Amino acid sequence: MRWLCFVLVATLILSVAPTAARKIRVVATTNDLKWAAEKIGGERVEVVALMHPLQNPHTVQPRPSFVVQLNRADLLVRIGLDYEETWLPPLVEESRNSKIRRGGIGDVDTSIGIPLLEIPAGRVTREQGEVHIFGNPHYWLDPENMKIIARNIAEGLKRVDPVGTSVYESNLRNLEREMNELLVETLKLAEPLRGEKFVAYHTTWSYLANRYGFRIIGYLEPKPGIPPSASHLADLILRMRQEKVKFIIKEPFYESRTPNMVAQRTGAKVIEICPTVGGEKGTETYPKLMRFILTKIVNAVQGLN
Ligand SMILES: [Zn+2]
Repeated sequence: MRWLCFVLVATLILSVAPTAARKIRVVATTNDLKWAAEKIGGERVEVVALMHPLQNPHTVQPRPSFVVQLNRADLLVRIGLDYEETWLPPLVEESRNSKIRRGGIGDVDTSIGIPLLEIPAGRVTREQGEVHIFGNPHYWLDPENMKIIARNIAEGLKRVDPVGTSVYESNLRNLEREMNELLVETLKLAEPLRGEKFVAYHTTWSYLANRYGFRIIGYLEPKPGIPPSASHLADLILRMRQEKVKFIIKEPFYESRTPNMVAQRTGAKVIEICPTVGGEKGTETYPKLMRFILTKIVNAVQGLN
């Protein structure tokens, strides 16, 4: 009987040990998705992000290490739409990892279920350099959307690691609660922004503006991905003067010459903000990033910086 017990225990240890030792390898394309995957996966996962937060997401230059990461991945978490379209599919192909191919067991498109903004009315192609052809993919700057992102990640983790189901579901409930609290807090924080008008370089801020009640009345880019042109800027400057727009929001990875020129001609100020977790000091987590961005805009509007 004792011998039988020993065999049973040994079998149990052998069957449990490999899964306990081996973490689920998650590759996220962005730091925001990495943050969410770590929250949902907890101790069961190890997560890497491919893109640098201070990199223009629409002009990513893939590195050879990306293929190595993808080859080892159990789960690939991506923004979807056309966000990673130019560089990710060829790398997934090259990685020879069938799990993370589109529609594979380890493929997570976090845009599933997101109420998308700015879906083009007609057919749009990328031939002229235009991006966002399926709608605006910068949807993570809204805690309601972060809940949807997290739900998609939890579903993916459950598919590749069913043993962890209860952990993933419980972590998802915690994240949803945290996002609800963050919403209450940030809606209050952003109250001074209600009805304010801004101009931005790129349409990165639509979901943020939509959630927190401010308006972006124009962009330095005539269309997402198309560089500013003289005629477009002339119209924009006119509108900014008419509508008394005082601020231009730009990301650190866009050039400063154009926003500075427009600011000079309109008396507006440029606010530089990185829209991704970890791009600036004090934005190491998603809640910190949301507070950081909103505080920066509120302070500018209130003349505090
Ligand atoms: Zn974009």
